[in-house]
Amino acid sequence: MDNDCLFCRIVAGEIPAAVVHETETTLAFRDIDPKAPVHVLVIPKAHHTDVVALVLADPAAAADVLGAAAAVAEAEGLRGDGFRLIFNNGGYAGQEVFHAHGHVLGGRPLGPMLARS
Ligand code: 5GP
Ligand code: ZN
Repeated sequence: MDNDCLFCRIVAGEIPAAVVHETETTLAFRDIDPKAPVHVLVIPKAHHTDVVALVLADPAAAADVLGAAAAVAEAEGLRGDGFRLIFNNGGYAGQEVFHAHGHVLGGRPLGPMLARS
């Protein structure tokens, strides 16, 4: 655990979160500032700065995160209409929390994949 990491502190129960799914290696909870009717963050319980670090250090845990994201999509009723799974990595992607996490987004049409600039 990284004591300075927000998501490690959520895993440790030091900061509350609306948990929707949990396994031995993963935790999924609702984003505090949802960008869609369903916006759930899926994280490995172990601290890795981003999904590349996660997959390099522990490929099985990365697979667990994908499995958890699929379970969340199913449980939230997103599979029929579709949903988006996003991993922001580093500065250009606007990553704000440096503990690997996938965003499960759905519940309405999500528009183009990226805003054009
Ligand atoms: P990133 O930009 O790093 O991919 O996404 C970080 C996400 O974490 C953002 O969508 C933000 O709303 C969410 N977030 C930041 N602080 C908290 C918090 O304390 N609790 C929860 N549940 N989500 C948070
Ligand atoms: Zn962490």
